[in-house]
Amino acid sequence: MSVNPSTKSVSVLIPLALPEPYDYEVPAGLIAEPGSYVIVPLGAQQILGVVWGEGSGAFDAKRLKPILEVLDVPGMPEASRRFVDWMAQYTLSPRGSVLRLAIRAPGALEPQRMRVAYRLTETRPARMTPARLRVVETAADQFARTIRELAEETGVSDGVVRGLVDAGTLAPVELPAEAPFPEIDFASAGKPLSDAQAAAAADLRARVASDEFSALLLDGVTGSGKTEVYFEAVAEALARGRQALILLPEIALTNQFLDRFEARFGEKPAEWHSDLSTRERVRVWRGVAEGRARVVVGARSALFLPFTELGLIVVDEEHEAAFKQEDGVSYHARDMAVVRASLGHFPVILSSATPSLETIVNVEQGRYERVVLAERHGAAEMPSITAIDMRDDPPERGRWLAPKLVAEIARAYAAGEQSMLFLNRRGYAPLTLCRTCGHRIECPQCTAWLVEHRFRRELVCHHCGYSAPVPKACPSCGAEDSLIACGPGVERIAEEVAEIFPQARVSILSSDNLRGPLSHEEAFRAIEAREVDIIIGTQIVAKGHHFPWLTVVGVVDADLGLENGDLRAAERTFQLLQQVAGRAGRAERPGRVYLQTYMPEHTVMRALVAGDRDAFLAREAEARERVALPPFGRLAGVVVSSNDANLAQKWARELARTAPNAENVAVLGPAPAPLALLRGRTRLRFLVKTGRNVNIQAYMQAWLGPLKVPGAVRVSVDIDPYSFL
Ligand code: ADP
Ligand code: ZN
Repeated sequence: MSVNPSTKSVSVLIPLALPEPYDYEVPAGLIAEPGSYVIVPLGAQQILGVVWGEGSGAFDAKRLKPILEVLDVPGMPEASRRFVDWMAQYTLSPRGSVLRLAIRAPGALEPQRMRVAYRLTETRPARMTPARLRVVETAADQFARTIRELAEETGVSDGVVRGLVDAGTLAPVELPAEAPFPEIDFASAGKPLSDAQAAAAADLRARVASDEFSALLLDGVTGSGKTEVYFEAVAEALARGRQALILLPEIALTNQFLDRFEARFGEKPAEWHSDLSTRERVRVWRGVAEGRARVVVGARSALFLPFTELGLIVVDEEHEAAFKQEDGVSYHARDMAVVRASLGHFPVILSSATPSLETIVNVEQGRYERVVLAERHGAAEMPSITAIDMRDDPPERGRWLAPKLVAEIARAYAAGEQSMLFLNRRGYAPLTLCRTCGHRIECPQCTAWLVEHRFRRELVCHHCGYSAPVPKACPSCGAEDSLIACGPGVERIAEEVAEIFPQARVSILSSDNLRGPLSHEEAFRAIEAREVDIIIGTQIVAKGHHFPWLTVVGVVDADLGLENGDLRAAERTFQLLQQVAGRAGRAERPGRVYLQTYMPEHTVMRALVAGDRDAFLAREAEARERVALPPFGRLAGVVVSSNDANLAQKWARELARTAPNAENVAVLGPAPAPLALLRGRTRLRFLVKTGRNVNIQAYMQAWLGPLKVPGAVRVSVDIDPYSFL
C-alpha cells in the first residue's frame, strides 16, 4: 500500500460502538488539529467526530474520504481525549462508546443562536404619545430588551414598540440567545472556620495551588463542615483561574445544595444532571468548553464535560453506590474522577462521613492522603444509637413498629419535634401471596416479585416497570379475596403511623411521589418549615439534608440490606444506616436513633451502636483480605443474555469452554444470575476473580476478544462490579 505524501490524513474517532478511529483526508484549506470537532461521511451519513491524531496509514490513502467541515468551537482538550482512551481501555468498552458520553449534548456544537434586543438612542419620535413615553422612560436605563419584554414591562402593545424602532428611537443589538453564566465571587470570605476546619481548608488550598495531582479523603462525621471546607478549595481553584467540578450522587443534587453554594459564592453554579432540558444541557456544555462556566455541580456524567481549565474535582459522598454506572459503559465515577485528576495534574477530594473500604485501604496503603474532621460544628452532638431487639420487644400483631419506637415518636411529637422512619422499600408490600394455594405473584418478564403500590392500586415490577391492577382472585387457584400483602413498604408504614397518630402530619418521601432531583424541594421545604411531624422515607431521606427539628430516627428494618449477601452488603448497610442516623440532632436538640433488628449481635449493628466505624472497617478489610476480594483482589462480572434461553445457555457454555487458564485467575460460572430473567431476557453470570496484580483487562481481552457472538446474544462486561444480580 502506498501512501501519497501530498494527502494529509488524520484519524477521527466517531461516537459509535467502534474500537478504533478511522482515517480521513484533510482537504486543502481546512485546519483539523487533534481535538477538533469535525463532520465526516460515514456510509450514507454525515456524522460528528473528533480528530484523535495523525492518520494511522492503515487505510488506502487514495480512497480516504474527506472531512466535510471543521466546527468552530474549542476542540476537545488533550486531557479529555486521554481520559476517553484510558476509560475505554479500563472498562473494556469501545472508545467510540466512551466518546459518546463526552459529546452527549445534541446541538451543543451548532453555532449559538443570537436574539435581537433594543436599546434607547438619542432620537425621539416626531409624535410622542403617553404609551410611547412609557417605553422611552423604561428604556432609559439602557438595558437591552426584546420587543416582547419592553411591551410587557410597560403594558403597551408590540406595535407601539415597533413604531419606536421604525422611528429610530430604539436601536437593535445582537445578544447571545443563551443566558450568561454569572460571575462567582470567589474572593469573598466564607463562614469563620473552627481551628480544625481552618487547618483542613489550608491543606486543601495548598493542594490546589500546587498544580499537582493528589487524592485526598476528607473524612469527617456528618455535620462537621466538610462542605464548608471543600468550598475553600473551590475558591482557591477559581482564584487561580481554574474551573472546578463538584460531583454529587444524583439524588443529593438538590436546591438546598445549590442555595448553599449561592450563599457562599454569591451566585449559583452550573448544574449537570439527567433532569436538565436539552437547552440547558447545550448551554452548560458550551459554557464549560468556552470557559465561561467556572464551577459545575453535577452527577457522574459531568466528568465528561469538556473542561479546558479544570483544576479541582470534589466527589461528595464518595462511598455512594450511585456513582457506579451499570448500563452501557460501566464505570465508577469516583474512581474515574481520580483518573481524570491524575491526567489533568490537579487534586481530587473525596468527601464522606462513611468512606468506602476501597478508599480507606487506599489511604492506609499510602496512595491517598486523609484529612479528618472529628467533631460536629457548633453545639450539635452526634446522635445516640440504640438497637431495638425485635425478638424482645415485638410490634403488635400486624404491625411493624416496636412499642419502644412508638413511645419515642410520641414523646417527640408531644414536644413539637420531628421524627423520621426509614425503610428502603417503596410501595405498600414487597410480596403478594395467596393464602389458599401459596402462590406468589411474580413479574412475567423478570425473576422478581411484584410490589404492591396501594395508592396506585397496582402491582409493579421494580426492575422493568411492568404493572398490573391488583387482581381480585388468585391468578393461580382462582380463590377470591385470598391474596394477602406480606411485609412492609413505606406506604404500609404510613398507614400504621396514621392509625397510631391520627392527628400527626405525615409526609412520605420516596421516588414514587417525588420525581427528579429538583422535585423534592417542596417536600423538604415543608419539613424545614415544620409543616410535617413524621417523615417516612426510602433512601431519598438518607442524604445530606439538614432538618434542625428532627430528633428521632427509627430504622424500620435495619437488617434489610444484609439479606442480599453480596460482598459489600455489610459495608453498604453500615454506610446507609450511619447516614440515616446522621439526620438526627443536627442542631441544638440531641438526636436519638433506633435500629429495629432481629440480629443486634451482628457486627454492623454493634459497630453502629458503639459508634466505632474504624473498628468495623478494619474487620471488613480483614475479612476481604483473607479471601482476596476487592480491594485486595480484582473482580469482573460477565453477563450472557438473550431473549432465547437456549441461545443464552449455549453461549454461556461456549464462554466456559474458551476461558483461558492463567495464574491467579479463577473463572466462576456460568450460573443463572439471581435475576435470571430480566425484561424477558435469560441471563447467566460469570464472575472472574483475580489477584491484585493481575491485569484483568488483558485477561478479559484474551478471553472475549476473539469471540463472535450472534446479534441475539449480548455479552456484557463489568470491571469492578458493584451489582451481582
Ligand atoms: P458536612 O458536609 O460535614 O455534613 P456541613 O458543611 O454541611 O457538614 O456543615 C453542617 C452544618 O454546620 C451546616 O449547616 C453548616 O453551614 C454549618 N457549619 C459548618 N461549619 C460552620 C462554620 N465554621 N460556621 C458556621 N456554620 C458552620
Ligand atoms: Zn419485571
